[in-house]
Amino acid sequence: MIPFSPQTKTAIEFAADLFRQSKHAVVLTGAGLSTPSGIPDFRSGGTGLWSRDEPMEVASLTTFRVAPERFFEWFRPLANQIYHAQPNAAHHALSELEKAGQIRSIITQNIDVLHQKAGSRTVIEMHGTLRTLTCTQCYHQQDAAPYLVPFVEKGEIPLCPKCGQVLKPDVILFGEQLPQAAWFQAQREARQCDLMMVAGSSLEVLPVAGLPMQALDRGAHLIIINNASTYLNVRADVAILEDVAEVIPAIAEKVLNG
Ligand SMILES: [Zn+2]
Repeated sequence: MIPFSPQTKTAIEFAADLFRQSKHAVVLTGAGLSTPSGIPDFRSGGTGLWSRDEPMEVASLTTFRVAPERFFEWFRPLANQIYHAQPNAAHHALSELEKAGQIRSIITQNIDVLHQKAGSRTVIEMHGTLRTLTCTQCYHQQDAAPYLVPFVEKGEIPLCPKCGQVLKPDVILFGEQLPQAAWFQAQREARQCDLMMVAGSSLEVLPVAGLPMQALDRGAHLIIINNASTYLNVRADVAILEDVAEVIPAIAEKVLNG
């Protein structure tokens, strides 16, 4: 690990101070939090595996309705990576902060369940989850676990045990509305928090990207940790352009052990 620059060290200490002073801290996480766990950011596209198909097209509700087998073929390598992925140091540090009462909730754009695998409890999943599947015909909801191995290993498309129709993973596809309950909860957290930390999100996907603005408008402090700048870096109290898996554990260490 390369030692932090003096500026980054100062920024980490300042971020830790904000956490210690905060009474209601919320974390917003995006794809960048899971890339150190080996999960590619399929929305950014343009590289390797994901350049064969256009995610906006193949991972859309329209494609799923007319040709679910195309969606599942595209989704299989991603599901495989998610199935085998382990939480990284950033996920673990956030879980520790929550246990210590320093974080109220995590709002995530990720569908990989890595926050929960790391032990985080209050996780608001804005883009749905891979833990459950819902029938496209009769809306029967099913635990995804028994279907995952046959799908990942043999490409078996999950079918409804009640009516035989295709089961859709409860992840939000392009062209689909965000889950309403999660969206209301996330907005409430954004309005009530006195500190929001954005981690591994470029804040490009609306409406989630607007949540930190809601927090700022009500006087909350803002920390942004992402390897690229976002539209709100100019308004953040602390903005660190570094690897989340190195910076977040360093902040947690300062918060928890001084
Ligand atoms: Zn069904």
